[in-house]
This record gives sequence, C-alpha cells and structure tokens, in this order.
Amino acid sequence: MRFIVDSNVGRLATWLRIAGFDTLFAEGIDDNRLVRIALDEDRVLLTKDRQILKRRVVTSGRLKVILIEDDEVKAQLRQVLTTLNLASQLRPFSLCVECNEPLVPREREEVEELVPPYVFQTQTQYMQCPGCLRTYWQGTHWERMSRELEGIVGTV
Ligand SMILES: [Zn+2]
Repeated sequence: MRFIVDSNVGRLATWLRIAGFDTLFAEGIDDNRLVRIALDEDRVLLTKDRQILKRRVVTSGRLKVILIEDDEVKAQLRQVLTTLNLASQLRPFSLCVECNEPLVPREREEVEELVPPYVFQTQTQYMQCPGCLRTYWQGTHWERMSRELEGIVGTV
C-alpha cells in the first residue's frame, strides 16, 4: 500500500513513513499533477480537498482517495489505518522519515562519525538512509515514536 499526501495534510506523510508506508509528500504541485502521480504510481491519495472527490477519475473508481477529516495528525493516521485495515501491516522504522528511502542496517563503526559520542557508546543497532545519510538508532526518540504508534494502532 503506497500513498501520496496532499500539502493540506503534510504531517501525515511523516507518520505514515514512521509506520513504514511508502509515502510521497506533494508539496507545491497542482491538483492535476497530484492526481497524475497517484494514478501513475498506484498510490492512494490523502487530502482534505473535497473538490478532488468530484473528479471523474475518482467517482469512476480509478483513483482511490481518502478524504481526511480531522485536523490532528494522529487522528488522521488512525483514520487511514482503519479505513484500509492496515493495523497489521506496520513496519516501523523501515523508511527514512525525511525522504521516504528504505533504511539499511549499518555497523556501529560505520556510523561513528555521524552520531553523538554518547549514542555511539551506548547503542549497538543502527539504520541509515542511503539518500540523506540520516542515521537512526533505538534510543529514546525511537522508543517514544514506537509507543505513540502503538497507542494509535491500539485504538484502531
Ligand atoms: Zn533520508
């Protein structure tokens, strides 16, 4: 299941990536292009824009769109997971939150220059984005995000 997120629900892209879903964030492109990319790449379109729902490509069922209702990002994520029944398909921390690239495991020594010294001292497992080189480890931030994700999924 892959997504494209309209600029009016941009933060949702971050959370879908945290949950492990391939998600494009359509910043600064018009609706025609948004719809085109969604069709070409077989992505579910997430938006607050009701006008898009009136398009023939949507009413005919060719393009799947979820109209996001809530303003709060966790409620938005919950809506998407519930609507598509995705709670069992989460793969947390498999994608870069910034650029949607699949993360790859790295040896501790490979990331020594990229992480704070105290992290290097205490953490043994690392993942890295081959695109932006952002490095992830199972520290407090990771744990907090996992807990929040579990909290959201727990209510689906
Ligand atoms: Zn990245």
